[in-house]
Amino acid sequence: MPAAPTRRDLVLRDLDASTARGDELDLVVIGGGINGAGVARDAARRGLRVLLVEQNDLAFGTSSRSSKLIHGGLRYLEQYHVHLVFESVSERSRLLRLAPHLVQPLGFLFPVYQGDKNPLWLVRTGMWVYDALSLFRSPEPHRTLDPAELARLVPELRTEGLAGAPLYFDAATDDARLTLETAIDAARSGALVATWTKVVGLAPSGSRIRRVQLEDALDGRRYEVATRAVVNATGPWSDALLGLAGSATRPLLRPTKGIHVVLDAARLPVPHAVVCRHPDDGRVLFVIPWGDRTYVGTTDTDEQVEPGQVRASHDDVRYLMRAIERYFPGREVREEHVLATWAGLRPLVSDGEGGSSESDVSREHKIFVGEGGMITVAGGKLTTYRKMAAEIVDVAVAELTAHGLLTRTLRKAETEEAPLPGALGFDATEEGRARLAAEIVGLGTLGRDVAAHLVATYGARAREVAARTAGDPAAGAPITAGRPDVLAQVDFAIDEELAATIADVLDRRTQISLRDGAHGLPGLDALADRMAARLGWSAARTEEEKARYRASVALQEAWRSEP
Ligand code: FAD
Repeated sequence: MPAAPTRRDLVLRDLDASTARGDELDLVVIGGGINGAGVARDAARRGLRVLLVEQNDLAFGTSSRSSKLIHGGLRYLEQYHVHLVFESVSERSRLLRLAPHLVQPLGFLFPVYQGDKNPLWLVRTGMWVYDALSLFRSPEPHRTLDPAELARLVPELRTEGLAGAPLYFDAATDDARLTLETAIDAARSGALVATWTKVVGLAPSGSRIRRVQLEDALDGRRYEVATRAVVNATGPWSDALLGLAGSATRPLLRPTKGIHVVLDAARLPVPHAVVCRHPDDGRVLFVIPWGDRTYVGTTDTDEQVEPGQVRASHDDVRYLMRAIERYFPGREVREEHVLATWAGLRPLVSDGEGGSSESDVSREHKIFVGEGGMITVAGGKLTTYRKMAAEIVDVAVAELTAHGLLTRTLRKAETEEAPLPGALGFDATEEGRARLAAEIVGLGTLGRDVAAHLVATYGARAREVAARTAGDPAAGAPITAGRPDVLAQVDFAIDEELAATIADVLDRRTQISLRDGAHGLPGLDALADRMAARLGWSAARTEEEKARYRASVALQEAWRSEP
């Protein structure tokens, strides 16, 4: 029986039909990372006709490979980037309110030792400034623990020479789901969202790019759409897109790689994130609690690899291990204890010099109108994406208006006050979460742990996921043994969250590939069969999809066979 068309199929059909009618879009946004999703959402909410195109899955690029923090960036204070910190802490407050299921307060312990570059008094002053910049609306104000308190809280942390440990608060997120929910809200506001669709050509009409050539990355079909403006939000791929637009200038980006390693929380338990300075170079890195896991990151090294192929090297893992050894000498953490790794490229804007160290390259974003009128955005942070998106759409609207391509009046986007989908009707208090979990348990198909996991992952939408098990108890079975994710999430991912491949589900709709030591491989056959039935895959296609996922796991694991 042929499978029902997916949302993606419907979007592509819609595009085909509107092209045949000679319709023109206002804006094509290239790149379904946090920036592209944010731009599409803002533009659609203003009433622009928008298409968001992503060559792979939403958040396939850097936006699923970050440190997963929504933070002011305490270390930017060291560089006196006060306005960047102010903007970031303001956006942090907003996201804590508008997406409380995805953005949660996280404490950070900052142990300071005698002889450190920044003495305790200076770090504490920095914390005051940090809290003040958030207008004292940090999730909690900072306080300083003395060595005895710290030793009680984190017994394995090095106490020799410890001067004290300020504890301050920022926030943690699921970066891929933040991107996904932003894109879902864009679609709800009228944007067309085409995943697994690659931009392969940009054709001008006069001096402006007015046609965009697309290729379906799953079946090779070609499409062409007409548009009045184009936004290049391709992060580390930005230079490739600038090339496609005919800009043959020196590279815009100086990409740097950052990796993380995942450990069992029992091996490296931390009640709060711990801020460490690397013993080799003094760089700041974090040890972050992540439920039954702890992850450690990150590195910062120049990297030129194709962004989709970026991975941790053995040297990267060794570098992180040295920091763990230094800060947690009593803990036996060795390379073989690493369960998983992830690696991403920072799309940092080059200063053109190449001489500065990687960590000094600016984290600020850059928006400019280039060849053919294409608006390019590069750099920036996950944390400030909403504000950055509004700035980009302002530039797009100004461009369209200046060229006489927009004459109608637009609405305000009002993203400052608009919750993300899972936050609609979600009571984020502990009692509210417990009530929703109890309601799910009451269905009689799912246990308490799974219910809590669904609430933490989907917010109010957990109800919709759980409801799928009511007529189909098999949907309550785990995707892979030992993890709380269930098959109903796979169906939901396909029907409601634009998942089209196995990696979409195991890497980004769930975090099984990172949290499970076996990366979900033991459950792969059952998962693939379920997806095949829903998506109408042939036996050969199902095998191809499994092979593609195994190849992505092999890439993640390649560091283990390096000398
Ligand atoms: P991406 O997420 O890379 O999106 C670009 C997309 O464009 C990709 O999905 C790609 O597939 C698509 N694309 C490329 N070419 C085409 C094409 N031809 N057609 C269609 N689509 C195309 N920020 C924070 O706020 N907090 C943090 O904790 C944090 N930690 C970080 C840690 C690391 C290691 C790194 C690398 C970054 C971190 N950042 C953090 C920064 C943040 O993650 C990035 O700034 C942000 O994710 C960039 O998003 P983007 O949308 O610009 O790029």
